[in-house]
Amino acid sequence: MTMANYAEHVQKRVTPQSESAREDQVQNSAGGFTFKVDDWQRMTRFLILGAEGGSYYAEERKLVRENAQAVEACLKADPLRAVELIASVSETSRAPKNDPAVFALALAASSDNLEARKLAYGAITRVCRIGTHLFQFVGAVDQLRGWGRGLRSAVGRWYSGQTASDLAYQVTKYQSREKWAHRDVLRMAHPTGSAEHNAIYRWCVGGLEGFTPKEGKAPRGAQADAALLPAIIGAMEKTRTLSQDKAGEKELVGLIREHRLTHEMVPNDFKKSPEVWAALLDTMPLGAMVRNLGRMSSIGLVAPLSDATKLVTGRLGDAERLKKSRLHPVALLSALLTYKGGKGVKGSLTWEVTPAVLQALEEAFYASFGNVEPTGLNTLLALDVSGSMDGGVVAGVPGLTPRVASAAMAMVTSRVEKHCHAVGFTSGGGGRQYDWRADTGLTNLDLSKRQSLDAVCEMVRRLPMGGTDCALPMVTATKEKWQVDTFVVYTDSETWAGKIHPFQALREYRQKMGRAAKLIVVGMVSNDFTIADPSDAGMLDVVGFDASAPAVMSEFAKGAL
Ligand code: CA
Repeated sequence: MTMANYAEHVQKRVTPQSESAREDQVQNSAGGFTFKVDDWQRMTRFLILGAEGGSYYAEERKLVRENAQAVEACLKADPLRAVELIASVSETSRAPKNDPAVFALALAASSDNLEARKLAYGAITRVCRIGTHLFQFVGAVDQLRGWGRGLRSAVGRWYSGQTASDLAYQVTKYQSREKWAHRDVLRMAHPTGSAEHNAIYRWCVGGLEGFTPKEGKAPRGAQADAALLPAIIGAMEKTRTLSQDKAGEKELVGLIREHRLTHEMVPNDFKKSPEVWAALLDTMPLGAMVRNLGRMSSIGLVAPLSDATKLVTGRLGDAERLKKSRLHPVALLSALLTYKGGKGVKGSLTWEVTPAVLQALEEAFYASFGNVEPTGLNTLLALDVSGSMDGGVVAGVPGLTPRVASAAMAMVTSRVEKHCHAVGFTSGGGGRQYDWRADTGLTNLDLSKRQSLDAVCEMVRRLPMGGTDCALPMVTATKEKWQVDTFVVYTDSETWAGKIHPFQALREYRQKMGRAAKLIVVGMVSNDFTIADPSDAGMLDVVGFDASAPAVMSEFAKGAL
């Protein structure tokens, strides 16, 4: 009599991804079974990756709704922790864009929970650091709830809590966004403040005596007293009266230099002048500088061997300045992808690309991740290049699909690690019927230092696509006897086309090779799936394009976490 092998049915060592391997697994959008990240991890993914453009599997609307539910669940479970997460991700510039944090804060401010609302009010100035953020917050909150007293005074404190000169800079640099201008917000919030503050409020609502208000709608008696206004406001008003000739241009350059005016404060009629942009460039913040490289090139200011080019490349190469600016790596990558295209995303702007600027942007991209310590360990970087990784965009950046984004992220680690191998994986070839039994579709990728970032992005963009089998890196490493200490898989975890689950494949690898290899899953889409086994301390989930991700990965690989 043979004994029944009950164990076989309970703890299966090998389960196809189309079947659940454990009770704590859920079905992903592709029909495969994976683990689920908790609401906190999902909220973090949303705060960093956003949901713009949706994903391959979900429309933007659906993805935003799902993420909003995760945020609400966190707010309900622990309002303090949730608001602190929103504020800290925003303040430390871990995310490429502040939009998801602003939206999450608006959700908190609209919560049924009084504590969550109060905490959100208290965090407005931490999350909404510039006028644009405030407009976004007010726009979202206005759609989600009514204007109660608590909200009015909290928004009012955004104005009254700044010095008059800081506020003057904010209201001139960030004048309006979509349906909202300071005039509208002030009418809702009615802030208090010093005589100077009141003069600024009146100027925002009605304009300045002696100058024509922009839209001619000033109520009688609402004009601000010019003597009480910070000088920058008078200077900006003055720019609107200048004649459009060389004399006017010269006067404008003088005003820009004296008052450190920004390009938002300068009339559009002067925006084709290299002299004007040269003056603006002198005091231009780094973020504005990288966003306006195309424009400054189109008018011939940024050109081969020009002074402006030296200034731009010098600033990008200045590690201290870069650190202080808190410019996110994605801002630099986005600038690089746009600039190398030689034309604007919208409109008719075109320019000649200066290679030195591209090079400086690329170096700044790597530098913006801060100091990433090499682990010295054997690292296998595995990029999911299956079809779904080509859907949606990361942080709303045109062309930055999850697969291109993962290539850029992988380059950051590849450049610091001495013993590193990179592969792109997809199940089956592109174009033909996927055969999920075929363990094919692993391509070696050259992510060495001699490769330029945009060449790597382009190479990965062109790889054939197919089904998703996230076990492939571990399966192949076992078969080929690769000596791996750390597997890093960049994926949306929408795995389905494999004979074995990734966590089982890792277990097999560890046993057959006798190595305690770790697995780091870099989540590239704000869904709630992961291939990482939450009960295995040797596996870690990080969020792709979290500015702190490469450093965290390195610490984890070394066993320091
Ligand atoms: Ca896929």
